[in-house]
Amino acid sequence: MTQLALMNTYGRLPVTFTHGEGIWLFDSEGNRYLDAISGIAVNALGHGHPALVRAIQEQAAQLIHTSNLYGVQRQTELAETLCRVSGMEKVFFSNSGAEANEAAIKLARLFGHKKNIDRPTIIVMEQSFHGRTMATLTASGNRKIQAGFEPLVAGFTRAPYGDLEALQTIGRNNPDVVAILMEPVQGEGGINIAPPGFLKQLRELCDQRGWLLMLDEVQTGNGRTGTYFAYQHSGIRPDIVTTAKGLGGGVPIGACLAQGVAAELFQPGNHGSTFGGNPLACAAGLAVVDTIEHDQLSAHAAAEGTYLLEQFRQRLAGVPGVVALRGIGFMLGIELNKPCADLVKQALAQGLLINVTADKVIRLLPALIWKREHSDELVNRLCPLIEQFCRSGT
Ligand SMILES: *Cc1c(COP(=O)(O)O)cnc(C)c1O
Repeated sequence: MTQLALMNTYGRLPVTFTHGEGIWLFDSEGNRYLDAISGIAVNALGHGHPALVRAIQEQAAQLIHTSNLYGVQRQTELAETLCRVSGMEKVFFSNSGAEANEAAIKLARLFGHKKNIDRPTIIVMEQSFHGRTMATLTASGNRKIQAGFEPLVAGFTRAPYGDLEALQTIGRNNPDVVAILMEPVQGEGGINIAPPGFLKQLRELCDQRGWLLMLDEVQTGNGRTGTYFAYQHSGIRPDIVTTAKGLGGGVPIGACLAQGVAAELFQPGNHGSTFGGNPLACAAGLAVVDTIEHDQLSAHAAAEGTYLLEQFRQRLAGVPGVVALRGIGFMLGIELNKPCADLVKQALAQGLLINVTADKVIRLLPALIWKREHSDELVNRLCPLIEQFCRSGT
């Protein structure tokens, strides 16, 4: 597989898929793979889901794109649907997660300028990931993705993940802070789950300080953690929430949702996107959200994810080198005591698609249609690989 015509941005595995069916992918040699990563939480309904395929086919035949110069019916419908499932009030559509976060960052800055704060500052977290545009890579807490791209964007300050006291201290010392941007569960950072009660405390702190609470649910949204958005576990509502990944089930779409003052900040001319919210992407989004609701896939992710985590706990108990098991819904992390990228190749060779993030964390993000039989097969196949890897000297 030579790829001389492509810029060298990805370390790709030596496999190319030709088609998919449910949670299975097939390669050009006819091999079958159990897909436990679903395109990094994108294929929410798995591969070839009939409702999504039909929605895309019908919309493509009817109208693919007009422009935000005009009314877009599917966009309005998807916005209303997302507001209904989230309790938010208004939506801006983008084409990716990074772009959804760019919208949030711009809203925070507008919010600051309205309060006569000339250098509005956003608090972001260590080990966070918010995207690869200049502002979102600056917001990300990972030097590797920033190095070489300086100068970074001004207006961000960083705190340890889940540390309320650190946020309070920043609040006392920095009058330019206008917002907090945080993932309820850090995905790329290694499946780090905010401590219990933390979002509620954040909500209170933001109310007390007059800050916007902005949650990046690009990965955690769309049913993945067991509720439509992860903040719904906590009974709070953020001012802004962003999402993307699973929303289009594979068709590129992102969304920035807002409520309260944050929902009223943008005026015509402040922000926009040529493709954002086009009929094709929104038809896909509608099919995904409708299917998640109709088939109760959030509740399914909660229950089946709990089972999966428990199976891993039992099977990996006492295995030296397994440092921690973390999970919420269909977002699971198995942390080892050494870098384990090689496990991805070993699993691939055995027809199993997994991912490793933050060097040492095996990340599993199955599609929401993943069933009990898939859980059992994954555990049966992955656990021996992990044991063997942990016992090996490398
Ligand atoms: C993937 C991801 C992004 C970036 O999304 P893109 O669509 O790749 O721009 C941002 N935030 C989080 C939490 C993500 O997981």
